[in-house]
Amino acid sequence: MAVSETLSQAVRLRADGRCQYCLMHESLQGATFHVEHIIPQSKGGHSVLENLALACPGCNLQKADRTTAVDPATGEQVPLFHPIRQRWSEHFRFKGYEMEGWTPLAAQPWRCSI
Ligand SMILES: [Zn+2]
Repeated sequence: MAVSETLSQAVRLRADGRCQYCLMHESLQGATFHVEHIIPQSKGGHSVLENLALACPGCNLQKADRTTAVDPATGEQVPLFHPIRQRWSEHFRFKGYEMEGWTPLAAQPWRCSI
């Protein structure tokens, strides 16, 4: 099922124009970001706000229809980052760059009435 324009706009508003996986802002890239299914439709995911994320083309194409990946440290299959249920700042760090006092919008609690 396609994502409605209203739902797509809600995803973009919630993400504040940033990829919810790498946090790049859409204005820094010459391509339109995608509204993607966190749990792919091919794996039973639905087109609802809680299952949609804004993703840059690089993150979206790299993720594809995966929900898990091999952890290079352990060799175990682990779930991919879930940008709605998990906090970005607890999973990732900018190496060599302090982010003191800054919380990515993707990691902030957010409510929607749609
Ligand atoms: Zn990205």
